[in-house]
Amino acid sequence: MSTKEQEPRKLCCPYCDSELMDEESPFCQACRVKVFCCPNCRQPVARDKMVCPHCGASVKA
Ligand SMILES: [Zn+2]
Ligand SMILES: [Zn+2]
Repeated sequence: MSTKEQEPRKLCCPYCDSELMDEESPFCQACRVKVFCCPNCRQPVARDKMVCPHCGASVKA
């Protein structure tokens, strides 16, 4: 595949990879944690990460 398509908005838990339903305030039912989202790309980022794995932006709390 040479064309890089934009993924449809689908948020997955950074801890267990299950799909998150609520985009506004993503909460993983499996982990029972509120998932922090990168302010730059809006993708879920594990709280122990200092850098967004999706876009490389600094996400330190
Ligand atoms: Zn989870
Ligand atoms: Zn990001």
